[in-house]
Amino acid sequence: MPPTYRVPTAAIDPDVTKTWLRRALPLVRAHRTLLFSSLSLSFVGLLLQVQIPNALRIGIDRAVTARTASLWNFVWWIAALAVATGIVNYLARRYLLRTAYEIEYDLRNIIFTHLARMPFGFYDRVQSGELMSRSSSDIRAVQMYLAFGPSILVQCSIAVLAFGLMLSINPLLAVVAMATMPVIGFLGVSMRKAIFPVSWLIQSRLAGVATVVDENINGVRVVKAFAAEGRQLRTLAEAADRVRWAYVADARIRSRWSPVLENLPRLSLALVLLCGGWMVIDGHATVGEIVAFNSYVLMLQPPFRMLGMMIMMGQRAAASANRIYEILDTPSEVVDPPEPLDPVLTGAVRFADVVFRYPNGTLALDGLDLEIRPGETVALVGRTGSGKSTVARLLARFYDPESGTVRVDGHDVRDLRLSTLRDQVGIVPDEAFLFSVPIRDNIAYGRPDAPLAEVVAAAVAAGADEFVDDLPDGYDTVVGERGYTLSGGQRQRIAIARALLVNPPVLVLDDATSAIDVVVEQRIHGALRELMRGRTTLIVAHRLSTISLAERVVLLDAGRVVAEGTHAHLLATEPRYVEVLAEGLREVPDDAPEEVRT
Ligand code: ADP
Repeated sequence: MPPTYRVPTAAIDPDVTKTWLRRALPLVRAHRTLLFSSLSLSFVGLLLQVQIPNALRIGIDRAVTARTASLWNFVWWIAALAVATGIVNYLARRYLLRTAYEIEYDLRNIIFTHLARMPFGFYDRVQSGELMSRSSSDIRAVQMYLAFGPSILVQCSIAVLAFGLMLSINPLLAVVAMATMPVIGFLGVSMRKAIFPVSWLIQSRLAGVATVVDENINGVRVVKAFAAEGRQLRTLAEAADRVRWAYVADARIRSRWSPVLENLPRLSLALVLLCGGWMVIDGHATVGEIVAFNSYVLMLQPPFRMLGMMIMMGQRAAASANRIYEILDTPSEVVDPPEPLDPVLTGAVRFADVVFRYPNGTLALDGLDLEIRPGETVALVGRTGSGKSTVARLLARFYDPESGTVRVDGHDVRDLRLSTLRDQVGIVPDEAFLFSVPIRDNIAYGRPDAPLAEVVAAAVAAGADEFVDDLPDGYDTVVGERGYTLSGGQRQRIAIARALLVNPPVLVLDDATSAIDVVVEQRIHGALRELMRGRTTLIVAHRLSTISLAERVVLLDAGRVVAEGTHAHLLATEPRYVEVLAEGLREVPDDAPEEVRT
C-alpha cells in the first residue's frame, strides 16, 4: 500500500515583497486553534501563578502577623494554585510543542514537494549537503520562532500583570521592585546581540566539520588508497579547532554577561528589603508585602531575559526563512504544460536541430538531429563529453533544449504530461542508485505493486538473479547506503531489472553495462536483446560488445551527429569512428574488475 500522508493545508505566501514573517503567517494560521489554545492556557497559567505571592502576602499578614485567620486556609489555597498552575502549564506546553511540530511538518513537506519538482538544472547548481542543512536546521529555526515567539510574548505579559498587582498592593514598593527590570531587559538584549554573530559562526563551522566528516566517510576508499589518513585528520583537526575557537568566544561573552544578568535581581531583592523594611518600620507596609514582592521580583526576571532570546531567535529565523524561501522562490522550469497530453507511445523519437547548454554555460548539444524508428535499437558512440548522456537526459525531459525540439511519436515532449513521458521512457543510468530497502523493492521501484514472480523474472533476465540468490536474505536483503554493498556491475544489473519490470516503450541504457563484467554481459546479451525487442532503445555505449546489440550506430562529436550507419559500415568508412572506438577500448578495458565498488 502506498504510504499516505497529510498534505499541508497552507503554503508560504509567494509574494516576495512581504516580510519573511508575513509570508510565513499562513502556516501559523493553519494551526491557529492549537496555537491559540496553547497561548490562552499559558495566559491562564500566568494568571494563576501571579496569585501565589499575593496569597502568601495575605497569609503572612493575616494568619502569621495578625493571627486573625487560620494558616491552613492559605496553605491549601497556595497548594491548590500551584497544582492548577502545573496542570494548565502542562497542557499549554503540550499544545505549543504540537503546534511547533505541525509547523515543522508542513514546512518540511512544502520544501520537499518543491524540491521534487525542481529541474535537474537546479541540482547541478546546489550542493546536496547544503540542501540537507537547509531542510533541517533552517526549518527548526523558523518553526521555533513561529511557535515559541508568541508564547514568549505571552510570558512577558506576566510582567504587566504582576506590576499591576504590585501597584494595587503598594505603589511605591512596586516601583522599587521593578527598578532593575528595564536594565535586565536591556542587558538581555545586548547579550544576545553580542552572542548572535558568534552563534552563527558556530553553526557554519559545525557544518564545515560535518562536510569533512562526510567526505571522510564517503571517500574512505580514496583516503585509504592514498594513505592520506594523516592529511585528512589534519583537515578535520583544523575544522574542529575553528569550532573550538567560536565556542570559546561564545563562552567568553556569556560568562561576561550572565553573572550580571543573574545577580541584578538579587540587587532588587536588597532594594525591596531596604525600602520595604523602612516602610514596615514606619507602618506603611506589611511583612507579607515584602515577602510577596520578593516572589514577584524572582518571577519577573525570566520573561525579561527571554526577550533577548526572542530577538536572537527572530534574527536566526529571518536568515533561515530567507534561505528556505530562496529554494521555494526558484521556479521549476520543467513543468507540465497547461493542457498535458497522455498518449500511449509507440516510440518514434526525433531530435530536430537541438541546441542545449547546461546551467553553467557548457554547450552540450549543438544542433543535434537524430531520428529513431519505433522498435529500433540505436547505439550512441562518441568521445567523453560529446553529449551522449545529454541526449538521454533531454529525451526524458530532465532538461529542456535552448532551441530545437525533442519529439516522441510526433509530440514535442514539452506537450506531454511529465509523468506520462517518464513512465514510458525508461532510463538505466551508468551509476545505479540503490535505496536502503530490500532488493525486491529496489527492483520494483517503478512498479511497487509488482508480484514477486515478476520481480524475479526481471532479475533473471538482467542476470541479477544469480548473485541475489547468494545473498544472506535473497530478495529481502537490504542493500544500498545502509545495507549490503553491491559491486558496480551488480548495481547495474539491478537497475536493468528495474527498467525491465516497468516495460517502457522507449528505453535508454546510458552506459548501463559499463561496470558489468564482459563475460557476464555476454551472458545477459540474450536477455538484453529480448529486452530491446519491440521497443525503441537508445544505447550509450563504449564497448564493442555493447555496440553489437544495436542495429544502427550514431557517432556524436561536440554535440552533433557526424556519421551514422551500421557498425560494419562505419568501421569501413569513418576514420573518426575507428578512432573513438580505439580510445574507448583503452579507456574502459574489457577486463575491468567488477569488484570496483562504487
Ligand atoms: P558524454 O555522455 O558523451 O560523455 P555528456 O552528455 O555527459 O557527454 O556531456 C556533454 C558536455 O556537457 C560535456 O562537456 C560535459 O562536461 C558537460 N556536462 C555534462 N553534464 C553536465 C552538468 N550536469 N552540468 C554542466 N555541464 C555538464
